[in-house]
Amino acid sequence: MSAIDDLPPLRSVIASHGLTAKKALGQNFLLDLNLTAKIARAAGDLSGCDVLEVGPGPGGLTRGLLAEGARRVVAIEKDARCLPALDEIAAAYPGRLKVINADALTLDWAAHLGAPVKIVSNLPYNVGTELLVRWLTPPAWPPLWQSLTLMFQREVADRIVAVPGSKAYGRLAILVQWRTTARIALSLPPEAFTPPPKVHSAVVHFQALAEPRFPADPAVLERVVAKAFNQRRKMLRAALKGLTPDIEDRIRAAGLSPTERAEQVSIEGFCALARAVAG
Ligand code: SAM
Repeated sequence: MSAIDDLPPLRSVIASHGLTAKKALGQNFLLDLNLTAKIARAAGDLSGCDVLEVGPGPGGLTRGLLAEGARRVVAIEKDARCLPALDEIAAAYPGRLKVINADALTLDWAAHLGAPVKIVSNLPYNVGTELLVRWLTPPAWPPLWQSLTLMFQREVADRIVAVPGSKAYGRLAILVQWRTTARIALSLPPEAFTPPPKVHSAVVHFQALAEPRFPADPAVLERVVAKAFNQRRKMLRAALKGLTPDIEDRIRAAGLSPTERAEQVSIEGFCALARAVAG
């Protein structure tokens, strides 16, 4: 019996199902169920929610989510070796866990969930940023999900919550903070995982805003921000050269100076610039 449920401890689960970690699948497992329950609590009240979990592995976080009262968990796992262990969890929580053996990058996950939806995952690091960008850029806003509670490498978490003027501020910070309120909820040392990764990790909680913070066309904003940060040390007038023939006038029309650098421009400034470029 474990700390949070009547199922066996995760070390026994891993041993009995032969789940040796595969590096190619980003497998760094959390074996402390008190910790996985804490991560589940960082997502707020789960009782009325469907929860999407990408990469349940042996099921540590899955068990945390269920013990913390999630209405239903839909878990997408690429590694078929994990399925028997996850079936045991499904049997202990009848009707509340659906496991799908698929690649989260290709599965139409929304088809399996009912609102309200929260996404909570200890993501494989090799696909974490890619999934985050997809969740932040749905065809329409607000998205199906209310919040994201996700594990990242600490360096990526720092880029997500970075403010203008800092080294970590860039495309990711702007994409995230334009449409969500994001904060670091928990920091974890390498020893929290088995096997331990080389770097520190952090859980980031994102709350979706009803509307983006400032008006802008998402595609134009992305184009302007990508070009501006492609040469982040250059002045805006040089970095954005060629975007429109009269780019200096448009930078001024947005209330910015052509001699500013991208890393100094706020999200509000980039949105004004995107509107000036579109207009
Ligand atoms: N949630 C477990 C935990 O906290 O201990 C495992 C987390 S481990 C960092 C990442 C998990 O994602 C692994 O179980 C791995 O097999 C799975 N995974 C990797 N790539 C995936 C993908 N493209 N789609 C779905 N699952 C994937």
